[in-house]
Amino acid sequence: MLEIWYGGTFDPVHNGHLAIARAAAELFEVPVTLAPAADPPHRPRPGADAQQRARMLDLAVAGDPRLRVDRRELHRAGPSWTVDTLRELRAERGAQAPLALLLGADSFRSLPTWRHWRQLPTLAHFIVAGRIDQGDVAQLPEPPELTAAFAGRWQQAPARLATMPAGLAYHLRQPLRAESATAVRQAIACGAPAWRGWLPAAVAAQIQAEGLYGAGSGTDAASAGEPRP
Ligand code: ATP
Repeated sequence: MLEIWYGGTFDPVHNGHLAIARAAAELFEVPVTLAPAADPPHRPRPGADAQQRARMLDLAVAGDPRLRVDRRELHRAGPSWTVDTLRELRAERGAQAPLALLLGADSFRSLPTWRHWRQLPTLAHFIVAGRIDQGDVAQLPEPPELTAAFAGRWQQAPARLATMPAGLAYHLRQPLRAESATAVRQAIACGAPAWRGWLPAAVAAQIQAEGLYGAGSGTDAASAGEPRP
């Protein structure tokens, strides 16, 4: 059976993340494991600590048997390199187990900056989810070395991925969603109430309760028109 692994910072997890995880779970008919990074190698430190981000993931997947959370990157010292995680999974699952990495198109485009990126297709398949392009990075074309490294790997039939341990790629064509963790954090920090609609209610409540990303200052409740004591 194919195993789908979905790594990210999830700072915080939002409906865009959950939509692609559920779309992949539906299409491939297997559960998807969401794995929060401990110390993200490609970006500034997250706004919530690793335990808080993992807890929000627990809340987001609660009651959905298609989604799981794995904390292994939190238990490993140092940066959470994807190549290390995939090597670890490969050692545990065995050489023949079909394993796929799920990621958004923006992350895929940045793959040549990842540690030992050329080894990654030897360790797992790639499932690349479309994403609404945002920001300067999104304007960049796909790096030629990436296009070359994935030439001949792309599949039309999802079922092919379960027939090999690694090395194939598939474009997941799910409905595109505009959520991004950056937009969520910015909306919270400036007191824009819309952010609550971009996350599961339990995650929004946790952010509010812990005052994450500047939540709980009172400004967003006021502008949402909620009754005040
Ligand atoms: P940030 O805005 O801080 O960069 P993010 O929303 O991209 O965060 P990450 O935790 O960095 O969240 O994303 C994990 C993975 O999920 C990445 O592969 C990213 O491309 C993908 N992803 C995030 N949001 C979406 C979305 N709305 N649609 C499709 N893929 C997404």
